[in-house]
Amino acid sequence: MKFNTSWQYDPSPESIDHIVIDKEYGHFINGKFTKPVKGKYFATVNPARETVLSHVADGTAEDVDKAVKAARTAYDKTWSKMPASERGKYIYRIARMIQERARELSIIESLDGGKPIRESRDIDVPLAAAHFFYYAGWADKLDYAFPGRKAKPLGVAGQIIPWNFPLLMAAWKIAPALAAGNTVVLKPAETTPLTALKLAEIIRDCDLPPGVVNIVTGAGTAGASLVNHPGIDKVAFTGSTDVGKIIQKALAGTNKKYTLELGGKAANIIFEDAAIDQAVEGIINGIFFNQGHVCCAGSRLFVQEGVANNVIRKLKDRMETLIVGDPLDKNTDIGAINSKDQLNKIKALVKIGVNEGGQMYQPNCAIPSKGYWFRPTLFTDVAQSSKIVQEEIFGPVLAIQTFRTVEEVIEKANNTPYGLSGGVWTDKGSKVFKVSSKIKAGVVWANTYNKFDPTSPFGGFKESGMGREGGLHGLYPYVKLA
Ligand code: NAD
Repeated sequence: MKFNTSWQYDPSPESIDHIVIDKEYGHFINGKFTKPVKGKYFATVNPARETVLSHVADGTAEDVDKAVKAARTAYDKTWSKMPASERGKYIYRIARMIQERARELSIIESLDGGKPIRESRDIDVPLAAAHFFYYAGWADKLDYAFPGRKAKPLGVAGQIIPWNFPLLMAAWKIAPALAAGNTVVLKPAETTPLTALKLAEIIRDCDLPPGVVNIVTGAGTAGASLVNHPGIDKVAFTGSTDVGKIIQKALAGTNKKYTLELGGKAANIIFEDAAIDQAVEGIINGIFFNQGHVCCAGSRLFVQEGVANNVIRKLKDRMETLIVGDPLDKNTDIGAINSKDQLNKIKALVKIGVNEGGQMYQPNCAIPSKGYWFRPTLFTDVAQSSKIVQEEIFGPVLAIQTFRTVEEVIEKANNTPYGLSGGVWTDKGSKVFKVSSKIKAGVVWANTYNKFDPTSPFGGFKESGMGREGGLHGLYPYVKLA
């Protein structure tokens, strides 16, 4: 099949005329944007064009200290004393203002992070609002969340997030913490701070009492200062397994509670009896959504032998139709890789995959000359021990293996240090239940993939972390129960 000639789309770029990005942003501490103590800033870059969007404060231990003190005062004097129904009203207000500014937030998310506007517009931003709405509802119903127990807030939560879903991860962290009566200090990832700073504007405009939410931008060192600050009661971290291990060591022997949402290497399993065309769409979405910068990406595909050739052919055909390019164009399926560092990491792992004997396939699609790009990629002829089968690549790279029996695929799927997510495609309900109950992962989707909802808990087994975010389970790490 030749798709390049028959599938032409006219450009459909989102307009950015109305977007206001300041030249410089300070930290958001005690309800105000404030200059960093040491006066240093760093650039945040548009990965699709390699242009500087803004400069943000480079946080140090002194800035973190100011933010934690503001959060403590707000906790002691205001937030923990406020009636829960009033707290709920503030959280609702944040949710509604996210909706009001949805278009602006989507565009800035795509500019700063490189993800297609279709995804930031239809997934990241609506889900961020949905998380605030959902947890606003719990604020005055904590007695029903934990029947027979009395839920009390922990105090100040230190929250650290990655760059793959910047606004959504901020919502996952801030909404349940506030609903349970805690105050927070959040540190966004260094490559994608802008939507968190726009959220700070929203929080300020909502008249949230000063100090209830503080946002300190900066590198990993600012994150480490937050984790190690004696004034926090809880750490909520989402990021890589390597950093998760450092944090876990730092917290050992302290009274701080913690949740760790870490990396993944999910198995997406296709049985012969699956609806194959539907499964192919699910595989494509599972690995190429958000350029594969997804902790729960279906990055290992297991296809039952009888349909392997057919599935691989259909996958290659479908990959030919994917449009890689301008994140702000509504036709785009795969946007820019988030940063030069991440692009180099993907390239290095793909090279190892080729050197280890894997057969690589990439469509011949056009990619822009400037910016950070990587074509959608699949590998066949890989072994269970191949590095690209074992390690999280966090890019648009799929490793395909085959299997014959249910027992064999369960064994192979679980043969990784991770356990975050998985997918099963079959028309037999009994097989769905058998396989999904044996996969050691926090979420297993059946005949679908990458479905998220604020009411549903999310989190990992093994080296994918501990604790759950989302749903009722997501409240539990922010309370002590009497
Ligand atoms: P990362 O671990 O490098 O960074 C995450 C955050 O931690 C950033 O804000 C960073 O500045 C900060 N940080 C770095 N070193 C630190 C330290 N020593 N102490 C405290 N904070 C520190 O991860 P990343 O590259 O930004 O994100 C990608 C990773 O996140 C992937 O492994 C992905 O699977 C994982 N992730 C997991 C989930 C989940 O829910 N399980 C969700 C999204 C992403």
